[in-house]
Formats: sequence, structure tokens, C-alpha cells
Amino acid sequence: MTTATTGEEPMALALARLRTSGMRVTAQRMALLMAISESAGHLDADALRERAQRVTGSLSLQATYNVLRALTDAGLVRCTQISGHPARYEIERHDNHHHFVCRSCGAIRDVECTVGAAPCLETHLPAEYDIQEAAVTFWGLCPDCRAAAPAS
Ligand SMILES: [Zn+2]
Ligand SMILES: [Zn+2]
Repeated sequence: MTTATTGEEPMALALARLRTSGMRVTAQRMALLMAISESAGHLDADALRERAQRVTGSLSLQATYNVLRALTDAGLVRCTQISGHPARYEIERHDNHHHFVCRSCGAIRDVECTVGAAPCLETHLPAEYDIQEAAVTFWGLCPDCRAAAPAS
């Protein structure tokens, strides 16, 4: 790419990411990858579809899931499954971060890896097991919900 202006930057970045991972560049992949990188993270497929549609025109939820899976499989996107919530997507930064989920409003925020390297937690599994990562979800109340909750 030639020198990109601010407006072109997310597009250039998405293009570079797709090319680096060896993926074929399609309008749907570009639109969803840009929607993910432009968001603050942790959007579900429906919200991402809505954003991507502004670029691609009508996009089915099934097509959205297919693209999100392809991007996840290629290591460009991180998919987080939190029980009781639809899967959330964010750009994969390989930083092994965890998530805090508010029980009341469902807000999700990143929690830095407590150790700095996967799998981050000590286990007592036999050495024959090759542990690669740990997914930790911290549950509680966010500051807003905590302030709104009646004092107990
Ligand atoms: Zn909350
Ligand atoms: Zn996250």
C-alpha cells in the first residue's frame, strides 16, 4: 500500500492482515475484520454484521458466522465463549488476556494476563498433558452496577 491517510488506514491494515495470513481477500472478510478492529472489542456476530453491512450491503448471519470462523481459524480474530452470552470477537493480539464479565449488565472488559505467558495458571495435570492456554472468566459487578445496587 502507498502512504495511507487516516481514513484508509483501517482498510490497509485489514488488507495486510488478510494477506499476511494467506487468506483470499474478499469484501466480506475485509468489512468484518475492519468492524472488529474499529470496535472496542467483544462484539457479537450480530453487532459485527450490522456494522459490516454498511460496507458490503446485505450480509446474512450465516455468512457472518462463516467469515468470523475463517478469520478465527486463521488466527486473525479471537473468539471468546462466555456462558450465557453469544460468542464475542476481537482482534487476536496473542497477549493471553482474560475477561471480566459483569453479572448485572453483561459488560465485558479485558483483564491482563496475570503472569505474562500462557497458560498463566499452575495446574496439577500430569506432565504427559501439553497445556497450551487457559481461558479465565472473572465474574462480578462493574463499577456502574455496583453503584446502582442497593447496599446490602
Ligand atoms: Zn454492569
Ligand atoms: Zn478481550
